[in-house]
Amino acid sequence: MNSKKPNPLFIEPSGSVCPICGKRSYSLRGIHPQCAVQQADAPRQKLLAAEKKEKARLHAAMVDDA
Ligand SMILES: [Zn+2]
Repeated sequence: MNSKKPNPLFIEPSGSVCPICGKRSYSLRGIHPQCAVQQADAPRQKLLAAEKKEKARLHAAMVDDA
């Protein structure tokens, strides 16, 4: 029987560097969990910031109009 080991899902060379913060990471895929969360959350944060800005602008326009 062929008892060949399956390939690992991730190959981790010793000394991976997190692409987000640039620090050394030994986590899965070489990215810190908190950095991965930060990255995943970035578009949402941007959207929220834009929304807030737009709201503030509308409010300012309303006040200006009155
Ligand atoms: Zn990191």
